Amino acid sequence: MKNISILGSTGFIGRQALEVIEAFPERFSVKALAGGKNWQLLAGQAKLYKPEVVAISEERHFQDLKKALSGLRIKVLFGDEGIKEVASFPSSNLVLASIVGVAGMLPVIEALKSGKDIALANKEALVVGGKLVNALAEKNKSKIIPVDSEHSAIFQCLKGEKKEDVRRIILTSSGGPFRDWDSKKIKKVKAEDALNHPTWKMGNKITIDSATLMNKGFEVIEAHWLFGLDYSRIDVVIHPQSIIHSLVEFTDGSCLAQLSPPDMRLPIQYALGFPGRLPKIWKALDLVKLGSLTFEEPRRENFPCLDLAYRAGKTGGTALAVVNAANEAAVDLFLKGKIKFTGIAEIIEKSLEAHNTVKNPDIEDLIEADRQTRNRIKKGSKIK
Ligand code: MG
Repeated sequence: MKNISILGSTGFIGRQALEVIEAFPERFSVKALAGGKNWQLLAGQAKLYKPEVVAISEERHFQDLKKALSGLRIKVLFGDEGIKEVASFPSSNLVLASIVGVAGMLPVIEALKSGKDIALANKEALVVGGKLVNALAEKNKSKIIPVDSEHSAIFQCLKGEKKEDVRRIILTSSGGPFRDWDSKKIKKVKAEDALNHPTWKMGNKITIDSATLMNKGFEVIEAHWLFGLDYSRIDVVIHPQSIIHSLVEFTDGSCLAQLSPPDMRLPIQYALGFPGRLPKIWKALDLVKLGSLTFEEPRRENFPCLDLAYRAGKTGGTALAVVNAANEAAVDLFLKGKIKFTGIAEIIEKSLEAHNTVKNPDIEDLIEADRQTRNRIKKGSKIK
């Protein structure tokens, strides 16, 4: 039996994970749940899965949640301290980390400090804190199992292989909804155009990141930390059908790929079941029905976020906190209709240029770089 804590149980990944867990009641037990603000859903999940502890991030919903769960033997908590307790809950041995954004990084660090294995869906823990997170995982002998579909694919392809036999990895990207739009049209993109993602249904922030290709840029950085490869050995190819989730090319020219219909329940199930596979097919792959798979070069000039991510990745240190914070702030401005789609990359580039990188940051340096970047953008957006 695996005892699981879920950070972000009311979000997209959290809900899908609970579906997977429900399919294997003899293998998984939910011990702790943490959600952001949807206390009604969190209360419903707690009644169904009967964890020992639940935490809601926003304090204003604490009393409602507590009332909804009164009479049950469930400890109810709130705020950063509550989330921390879910992350380090003693009777859990696996933590699914699926809180979106940089807010999800500190709970991952907390879980690693208490020696948990992590099924990692939060990108920022590695994008911003990759070096620290890897060091902690190594020190506490924690495994980090990727949930992101691309990294799950590479993780699966690398099973049983030697690192020195890997020539490069190739991350696939759907290309987002504006893959074949010209630059004039891209300038006029509205939030609702972007939220209409062709293949995956996800939260708003990640959907915009998919449209700008920053999501892929972050995945390049994640791959760097997860698989210990130099940026020159991590490539991106556009594959609109999202059937091949990524590939590994070996030194003999042989490539291994992982294929499946796009459904996040598969990589979640793989991460929860690791090192074995669990016998449930959510959606079967029908090659004949698909007919063909296509591939293209990413159009870097139209989607400059991809190269900005590579640039920040190669610079390293606090530049990684800056690229992430600038992107979060810029996407928020775009969703509120305050900047153009192309303004997202412009803000990120300016933020990187304005920042003096600390090469070997500790967690405080990263948080400070994040804070400074957001403040700078806030001031800038008021002037406009
Ligand atoms: Mg992905």
